This record gives sequence, structure tokens and C-alpha cells, in this order.
Amino acid sequence: MQNPELILETIVSDMFAENAYLAQLSGRDDCLVVDPGFDVHRIVERLSERKLTPAAILNTHGHADHIAGNSGLKQIWPNCPLIIGAKDADKLTDASLNLSQDYGFPITSPPADHVVEDGETYVAAGFELEVLETPGHSPGHIVFLWKSSPYVIFGGDVLFQHSIGRTDFADGNFEALKSAIQTRLFPLPGDSIVLPGHGEPTTVEAEKQHNPFVGIPAGYVDESPR
Ligand SMILES: [Zn+2]
Repeated sequence: MQNPELILETIVSDMFAENAYLAQLSGRDDCLVVDPGFDVHRIVERLSERKLTPAAILNTHGHADHIAGNSGLKQIWPNCPLIIGAKDADKLTDASLNLSQDYGFPITSPPADHVVEDGETYVAAGFELEVLETPGHSPGHIVFLWKSSPYVIFGGDVLFQHSIGRTDFADGNFEALKSAIQTRLFPLPGDSIVLPGHGEPTTVEAEKQHNPFVGIPAGYVDESPR
């Protein structure tokens, strides 16, 4: 069950099957753009078809597949702020750090307009978003938590349906990722919806119960009240 106020559109880029999200609250003419990927022309097309103005570009982390659309959006909406976690901000402007160099198609993004840190609240397009630092897939990875009913987590590459973000990159760390999921996400209400950077949405409860890497099957002990 999704909050009826939320109008959510997912645009999956062909390359890396990365999920970009357009999140709008009903009755408004602006929206969030979360992790615009390689198919920015389709994002721009949908924004213009729907007559939506992006109020903020939110990056959960600085890997190329999540930031590739930043520059295309900023060209059209130069005043739309670009937001990323403080510890991943350097990846935006460095093709080697954002991994695109290694994949053979170096890309960079404009620099962040505003960096956020753990515990901060960021407000845009009518959304009040709490920032949670969730390192492991990338050291500066954050998720944006919208405390609606139910909670919605713009989750990037942290927790996937029955999977988790990769930790085999140079600055990845499996133990950090596991700890971030278990201490930051699993204590949230079970019906919290996770909107991941790849694949289908899931819930905190489903992953607690079934996730083979970090959930009960992997030894997680659920001490939250039921
Ligand atoms: Zn990533």
C-alpha cells in the first residue's frame, strides 16, 4: 500500500537497469528526481509531458549509473539543486571515482549544490526527507526517508528485494553495508517501502524475514516489538 498522495513514476535506464524515480505529491506541479540515470532524455520527456518542474535532484550515491542524468537535467533546469551525501560528493566530478572510467565511458556531473549528512532533514517538492547515512556499497551512500504512512525509503543500492548492493568495488565494505541495513533500516516499521536503485520495490519486513544476505536467514535477530 502506497500513500495515496504520492504519485511515483519509475524510469528504468537500459544500461545497468537503474531505477530513476519521479516523486510528486498530488496537487503539486513540482517533483523530486531521484538518481537520474543514463536515459535522461526519457526523464526530461516525462517531466515535460507531465508539466512537472524538478524541485531537486537527489543522488543516493555517486556511482555513474545514478548520476549520469544530472548534467542533462541541470542544462534545462540550472536552478534545480543537486543534492548528495557529503562523503560521496567527490564522485560527481571524477570519472574514475564514479566508476565510469573503468567501464569505458567516462562521465561527470556538475558539482553538488548542497551536501547532506546523517540526521539532516531536506525539504523539497512538499516532501520532508530525513537523511540516513548507509555506507558499504559506497562510503558516502545515503538514503532519503519520507516518514509518510507508510514510510517510503529512496534506497539506492543498499537493500534490494532478496539482495543487497555490491560491495566488491574498491571502496565497498560488506560488513559496513550489513550493519547499515540492520541498524538503520531494519528498525524502521515493517511496512516501510524500500524503493531500490535496481529491481522491484520491497518492504523492510519482507527483507528482514527473507533476505539471504542480511535478514533472518543470515542470522539477523529481530528484537523489534511486534
Ligand atoms: Zn552503485
